Amino acid sequence: MSLGEFDLIAKYFTRPVARAALGVGDDCALLAVRPGMQLAVSSDMLVEGRHFLSTVAPDRLGHKALAVNLSDLAACGAAPLGFTLAFSLPRADEAFLEGLARGMFALADEHGIELVGGDTTQGPLNLCLTVFGEVPAGGALLRSGARPGDDLYVSGTVGDARLALEAFRGTLALPGEQFDRVRVAMERPQPRVALGLALRGVATSAIDVSDGLLGDLGHVLKRSEVGACVEVDAVPRSAVLAAQPPAWQRECTLAGGDDYELLFTAAPGDAERVRAAGRSAGVAVTRIGRIEAARGLRLVDAAGAPVAHTFGSFDHFRS
Ligand code: ADP
Ligand code: MG
Repeated sequence: MSLGEFDLIAKYFTRPVARAALGVGDDCALLAVRPGMQLAVSSDMLVEGRHFLSTVAPDRLGHKALAVNLSDLAACGAAPLGFTLAFSLPRADEAFLEGLARGMFALADEHGIELVGGDTTQGPLNLCLTVFGEVPAGGALLRSGARPGDDLYVSGTVGDARLALEAFRGTLALPGEQFDRVRVAMERPQPRVALGLALRGVATSAIDVSDGLLGDLGHVLKRSEVGACVEVDAVPRSAVLAAQPPAWQRECTLAGGDDYELLFTAAPGDAERVRAAGRSAGVAVTRIGRIEAARGLRLVDAAGAPVAHTFGSFDHFRS
């Protein structure tokens, strides 16, 4: 006999909580919020065929569903507290549920956070997580804080997830070992939580790169009412991507998406503090441009020559 809804929740998604005042099992979960802190809340939904391929291993899907949510907390400089999981699945496939829970809880344990509740229903495979974090009142990193003259930085490398997607689609061929490396970037992104925390009080604005670097930068520019100049050849990329044709490198780094790196700004006088934040978080931070007073986005190459801006941003209703 297949597992019922409540057995499924009890078997795979109910674990004792220590941080939360109340976890799974009642009508609401209860989270304690410390005085002087604000609750940071974010939801992200993953739909099969849209955000992930049906071929993805369940544990990687569990990891990614939580990772993309934690990435939003990271971008705000919030410390994760807990999360909820609302999902629908076609049938109670135990191999799938076991893998999903394993991948999700492994990442949750890395960040010391708990699953406190959710909702479970039958339907097409679709996962919606909500994460809760805390940040000192008034101390969250926002999209709106970039100022003319600030340096623009990105963490890690960008573009590999898009390269993997194109390899899956058959647009390009990658040798097995290279494919495995970029596939990990696509399926097991590492949310930059430690970096987000280290950038509190240092970064003037931040966003996580989920829809493509230039598109996400556009959100910062709009909210901050500024422009920017990006040195396209300075955007950090992996060795695998750096071996691709130059046009592909630009497309993947600038418009790839699914990177979950932090894109942020800081005053030029804080360059050493930015480097220290990267060191303390164990992640590379690279300066890729500058914020300008004049609105709009300018792209230049390594020699300073203008580069045409033909790179789009991912939009679910346009692609
Ligand atoms: P309600 O009918 O009050 O919405 P449910 O019967 O849907 O409650 O869920 C029972 C309990 O199980 C609740 O505490 C809910 O938060 C939790 N829950 C349901 N689905 C999940 C899930 N996928 N992961 C974690 N907790 C879940
Ligand atoms: Mg319910």
